[in-house]
Amino acid sequence: MTEQIRRILIVGGGTAGWLSAAYLNRAFGEKVEITLVESPRIPRIGVGEATVPTLRTTFSFLGMEESDWMPKTQAAFKSAVRFNDWRKPAAGQSRHVYYHPFFTVPEPPVPYFEKPFHKRFGRGVSMAHFWLKAHLEGDTRVRDTFGDAGMALQHLCELNKAPKPLPGSEEADPGFRYAYHFDAALIAQYLAELAGSRGVRRVLADVRDVRVDEHGVIEHVVIEDGSVLTADLYLDCTGFRGLLINQALKEPFVSASEYLLCDSAVAMPAAHKPGDLAPYTSATARDNGWIWEIPLLDREGTGYVYSSRHTGPDEAEKHLRDYLGERAHDVEANHIRMRVGHNRRSWVGNCVAVGLSSCFVEPLESTTIALIEYQLALLVLHFPDRHDNELRRGRYNDLMVDAFEDLRDFIVMHYTLTDRDDTEFWTDVRKAPIPESLSRKFAEYARSVIIPDGSQLRLFETRSLWAILSGMGFPFTQAPPAVEMMDDAAAWEMLAQIDREREQYGRSLPGHREYLQSQRG
Ligand code: FAD
Repeated sequence: MTEQIRRILIVGGGTAGWLSAAYLNRAFGEKVEITLVESPRIPRIGVGEATVPTLRTTFSFLGMEESDWMPKTQAAFKSAVRFNDWRKPAAGQSRHVYYHPFFTVPEPPVPYFEKPFHKRFGRGVSMAHFWLKAHLEGDTRVRDTFGDAGMALQHLCELNKAPKPLPGSEEADPGFRYAYHFDAALIAQYLAELAGSRGVRRVLADVRDVRVDEHGVIEHVVIEDGSVLTADLYLDCTGFRGLLINQALKEPFVSASEYLLCDSAVAMPAAHKPGDLAPYTSATARDNGWIWEIPLLDREGTGYVYSSRHTGPDEAEKHLRDYLGERAHDVEANHIRMRVGHNRRSWVGNCVAVGLSSCFVEPLESTTIALIEYQLALLVLHFPDRHDNELRRGRYNDLMVDAFEDLRDFIVMHYTLTDRDDTEFWTDVRKAPIPESLSRKFAEYARSVIIPDGSQLRLFETRSLWAILSGMGFPFTQAPPAVEMMDDAAAWEMLAQIDREREQYGRSLPGHREYLQSQRG
């Protein structure tokens, strides 16, 4: 007989804490009593406003309707990341720009193309490979980067289009993958209300002490009025502090700072750029890091991610304000020291770290909330009982390290292929070591030996890799032999079809702002 977990205590009420509360409540209903304790004084990190498409599945699991939660959180759509100035401009161009679009295919785990493509090409050969073959042959009919040639979304981004027709419209829904931008404070509040309405108990207090027994198991936590809170399982959602996992349980943190130089950020709200509402995140490379711009319905979230070895907080804030000019809001900036890396183990004894307390890689591809979703899905799959959980814990911890290392490699890839040498930061980026796992992947990518990604997370697959690699001028040498055996005429017809769809959806889909305003009635 197993002795089931009956009580979970979540410490911390940021996006990680409240998403965990809502998710575990949805998974286990009344079988598990969930309490969340959050400090009334220690602020949430206040950033984390761009996402990837997996969140749609998670929000739909929680029963959240776009028409309800989007207007309440100033949310907007995100169809891509636009990378500006990550390389020197090509001859005759004023700047280097490429996109990482979310493409038009359905959610993972479908790894390649939809049925018509499979029928024509057979499983395992993607348009990314066909693009590469044509690119290597110097065929001028394909665009320079796969992100551009790939699918219709980039074109729709440039036209500031919503990724789907207005609700109730008779236009066909193209079924594009998309994600969201939202206000970080408002989404935590929305999730808190949702979880509260479904029975999650909230305690507003500082945790003052975490008592650990001689076996390294948490006995209870003590809050500011001296009361004791106990549970069978504790979730550490205290952000970079890692109050339970690092401070109380002393689990070491494995830094990734040798590979990724940026360790700080300064964030502030700003007014929109003139013109329509962009349905993508912009990541613009700057002297000592890069600036993000995340358009929400009522404002933009902006920030400068930088290396503190190359510039200081005051200088970084000035740099961001100068970049934004009159768009910068007249408010105090949010200065953040980032802890980049992962806990050696994210689950220790009866404590699981979720969110920033577990692992973090800089937000260039907006992956941390996706990692929270992954952690929660894995936790449910490996949910413990009150006794021997060593095997489950071990597997969970291995999967988390794999997922983190894959994401880290993906982010390093964005930097390491740069040819910029205009500041000391960029020359240091080019001198920084790259993880051995990424060197191996580069050797494989060069000759198109593809495993979408090595971890179970599978957040970014061949199309995404190709978008970044081709955008950053990666020296591919060979398309996969299978692509040589494809029917070229059919592939060119597919590309022509994609071009026709670009034009058609460019005309039929509503403007981004128009769609969001229609949600408000
Ligand atoms: P926090 O928001 O820091 O919450 C910690 C909670 O713990 C708070 O409620 C606090 O009050 C509580 N707490 C702390 N100590 C105590 C105590 N002693 N007692 C009681 N409560 C306590 N992710 C994305 O997916 N997309 C992005 O675009 C993105 N951008 C980012 C940009 C930057 C610069 C950074 C640093 C992160 C970004 N992230 C992004 C990550 C994202 O912000 C986090 O994953 C997300 O906000 C979850 O944070 P959290 O809940 O783990 O921590």
